[in-house]
Amino acid sequence: MSMIENLKFIKKNGVKKFLKTQEKKYDCPQCSKTICVHNGKCYECGFKEKLVGLKKQ
Ligand SMILES: [Zn+2]
Repeated sequence: MSMIENLKFIKKNGVKKFLKTQEKKYDCPQCSKTICVHNGKCYECGFKEKLVGLKKQ
């Protein structure tokens, strides 16, 4: 989704629902558990996701 599409979605569905869709982005592709949005790591199976725009630590 583009930035404008995101804003349209928020206007239509609300921020809470938008955040839910964003959360879904970070499901682990290997075990489908939630990946930590802060470091992109799955604590279930150890999968590491490369997150765009993530700050280097
Ligand atoms: Zn996993």
